Amino acid sequence: MNVRHTPPNDESIVHKGQKGGTTGCGFDTRDNPSHWTNTHDKVTCKKNGCKN
Ligand SMILES: [Zn+2]
Repeated sequence: MNVRHTPPNDESIVHKGQKGGTTGCGFDTRDNPSHWTNTHDKVTCKKNGCKN
C-alpha cells in the first residue's frame, strides 16, 4: 500500500506507507489527515525511504 499526499494548491505525490502512519521519507500522515489517501499507484516521491 502507498499513500498519496495532495497538498492544497500543489501537485500530489505518492509516498511509500499508508494513511495513519509515517511515510518512508518521514512525513506524518496524521498531521493533515485530509491531505492523504491510500492508493495502489506507484511511488513518485524521490526522497530516501520512499524511492528505495
Ligand atoms: Zn516520500
